[in-house]
Amino acid sequence: MEIPPGGLCDHCQHCKRVGSARGSVFRLCLLHERDPRFAKYPRVPVLSCPGYQAATGKA
Ligand code: SF4
Repeated sequence: MEIPPGGLCDHCQHCKRVGSARGSVFRLCLLHERDPRFAKYPRVPVLSCPGYQAATGKA
């Protein structure tokens, strides 16, 4: 299954990938839980984001 590129989200420590029953994959922004400025499901690819923090320990 091909996953559309998420831009910054794919390398951000606040991003969690979630799968749907239909096989789609969404990117959930964990910052949304404490800051409503961030969409729960950002429109990808995200090219610029004030909340971006590079993930450590994963590609
Ligand atoms: S903080 Fe920005 S870059 Fe990181 S997961 Fe949320 S929307 Fe994506």
